Amino acid sequence: MTGYGRDAAALAGLQKLRFFPQSVIGGKGARLRSDDGRELIDLSGAWGAAGLGYGHPALIDAVTRAVADPAGASVLSSANAPATALAERLLALFPGPHPQKVWLGHSGSDANECALRAARQATGRQGVIAFRGAYHGGTMGSMSVSGHTVQEGAEKAAGLIQLTFPDPYRPELADADAVLAQLEARLAAVGPETVAACFIEPIQSDGGLIVPPPGFLARLAAICARHGILTVCDEVKVGLARTGRLHCFEHEGFRPDMLVLGKGLGGGLPLSAVIGPARVMDCATAFAMQTLHGNPICAAAGLAMLDTIEADRLAARAEARGARLRAGLLRLKDRHPLIGDVRGRGLALGVELVADRAARTPAKAQTAQVVYRAHELGLVLYYVGMRSNVLELTPPLVLTEADIDAALDILDRALADVAAARVDADAVRQFAGW
Ligand SMILES: *Cc1c(COP(=O)(O)O)cnc(C)c1O
Repeated sequence: MTGYGRDAAALAGLQKLRFFPQSVIGGKGARLRSDDGRELIDLSGAWGAAGLGYGHPALIDAVTRAVADPAGASVLSSANAPATALAERLLALFPGPHPQKVWLGHSGSDANECALRAARQATGRQGVIAFRGAYHGGTMGSMSVSGHTVQEGAEKAAGLIQLTFPDPYRPELADADAVLAQLEARLAAVGPETVAACFIEPIQSDGGLIVPPPGFLARLAAICARHGILTVCDEVKVGLARTGRLHCFEHEGFRPDMLVLGKGLGGGLPLSAVIGPARVMDCATAFAMQTLHGNPICAAAGLAMLDTIEADRLAARAEARGARLRAGLLRLKDRHPLIGDVRGRGLALGVELVADRAARTPAKAQTAQVVYRAHELGLVLYYVGMRSNVLELTPPLVLTEADIDAALDILDRALADVAAARVDADAVRQFAGW
């Protein structure tokens, strides 16, 4: 049986979100090796988690040393040197007007859940503001503030005020003014003093790689500040140099009260963080903890990631590589009517596919076919969006210019093959996607 067949027989469907029969056995840089002997260019970056790509020397070195002489395994009942050093580094990278503290976790999900619970505990308020289309995680607490279609069945937080995320490509749904007016009205109705926090993705990623209109987030944050509502910026996917700045919120002219990091923070190992005001982060003890939180091996990986971002100027590099990738995508847009919009910042890019450019009709089936065909041709990328029609490009930050050019070439051929109906639609339909 192939690796993919064995996986199908052994691994639970519960955690699968598959787009094509991918079976990987190794990787180097921005390339993956599959068990059929092929080399694939990875523009997904494992949903952005593989910030340093695969097999980065800095990560190999840090993890090897940490695993050979581990400072325990947990941060719950003992300080451990890598966890402390990581917390100090994160504080320096997100300084605040008041004393700040760091919480370390395993995933974006546990970090957002911690932020939610701590904000409620510290403020004594229950209400929470979040967006339709938002993806904050896959645990009950993080799902309770998410608004993605994939979690429609999940129970939502008590007192949830769910707003429409303003989408410049589909402005008919809601512009920034309309959304903010909606927020003011909802706050007036419930009493703003009942609302603890507002969860924000500075680029709504799984919701469709949507960059909000200029000024929107700063205005939103100002409303929250006026009412003592904590802004929680979920940069799990787009933070840490990916957008061309260390933090994505730096593009938006506001500073959130709390910052949530994950995915790329561990360079491929499980690691997340919440950084926020000490009055929130110290509001209780033994309140949000899991045994392996602050694990020294993962913390060492996080330190190596932050060191490499600085030493190799990965933010500037993401901006430059992102510009090259975006320019190539815009050239593809000139030739492929399927491409309705190219957007994003740095190396967080989205390509929205439409069946009709004027009507902007979502091309859901074609999107699934493009990612399937791209994989056949040697390129890994996935799709996102509330209409399942946005290609998401969140490649390793170490991607080379040659990787970009080769990837664009494959995408060009995949788009042409789908337009000419040369892709096996029945084979594609076996993959549920989302
Ligand atoms: C992926 C993601 C999460 C959840 O992170 P996990 O590591 O999958 O738990 C939360 N927020 C955003 C914006 C994400 O992209």
